[in-house]
Amino acid sequence: PPVLELRDAAKHYPARRNLIGLRHGPGTTAVAGASLTVRPGEFVGIVGESGSGKSTLARLVMGLEAPTAGRILVDGADVTVGDAAARSVRLGALQMVFQDPQSALNPRRSVWRLVTQAMEAARARLGTGTRAGPARPSRAGRRERAATLLAETGLPADLLDRFPAELSGGQKQRVNIARALCLAPRLLVADEIVSGLDVSVQAQILNLLHTLRDELGIGLLLISHDLGVVRYVCSRVVVMRHGEIVEEGPVEAVFRDP
Ligand code: ADP
Ligand code: ADP
Repeated sequence: PPVLELRDAAKHYPARRNLIGLRHGPGTTAVAGASLTVRPGEFVGIVGESGSGKSTLARLVMGLEAPTAGRILVDGADVTVGDAAARSVRLGALQMVFQDPQSALNPRRSVWRLVTQAMEAARARLGTGTRAGPARPSRAGRRERAATLLAETGLPADLLDRFPAELSGGQKQRVNIARALCLAPRLLVADEIVSGLDVSVQAQILNLLHTLRDELGIGLLLISHDLGVVRYVCSRVVVMRHGEIVEEGPVEAVFRDP
């Protein structure tokens, strides 16, 4: 089955209540009936101007918010209702990488502990509802696993004991990606992950995503306002406008249109 499928997924935010508790106005339809399929290892870009619903779509995919209509399937399982079963399906398949690598990283934790922390958090979430989770690895074991994940993202071992403030923007984003790799995801959902970086560093990070696909089969749902970034890394692109998917197809076909 596809790793991700949206069937007419929609998200409507009601208008806010005024002082006497009445809602005024129709609210906002952030995503309006979006249908989308992502196959394993596929790289799909989502473009659209600010406010077109890209980030809301990502939050729906990740289960950070529930859709107001439609269905969401992950690995063929319906995860529309975000219950414990849906969370564990998502946890085994999807990870998100955020825009700002600085704010996502605790400045007081060293690089290897930042990765370990993500592993522990994932372990804790997986253990939810069960009495005996997997046994906690030793400190040396955790450090070694963190080093392996960091090596997969191209970070040299001598950065293991550094702190975020001592890393470049690209290195910080690599740490974030290493954290996302903890649970061996099959699809990374990336929201503007290279927009703050120098162009040459952007290319390094995008090449890393290609390497992860080639070596680990990890797919990508890449939200970006930068058409050049999407063209460089994605084979398929989805164009959003006012919450709707208005165009979808191979990158060359969609970007050829005037
Ligand atoms: P308040 O705290 O007074 O309710 P918010 O800061 O939550 O105000 O929201 C301010 C406005 O921004 C509202 O119109 C709300 O619909 C909108 N809004 C809230 N969250 C977001 C968001 N994540 N992205 C875009 N707009 C948002
Ligand atoms: P994009 O990521 O493409 O910039 P968003 O998904 O952030 O678009 O926003 C789509 C629309 O939904 C915008 O009109 C935005 O103001 C609104 N919106 C987003 N989040 C909220 C929220 N939590 N509450 C109310 N409105 C929101």
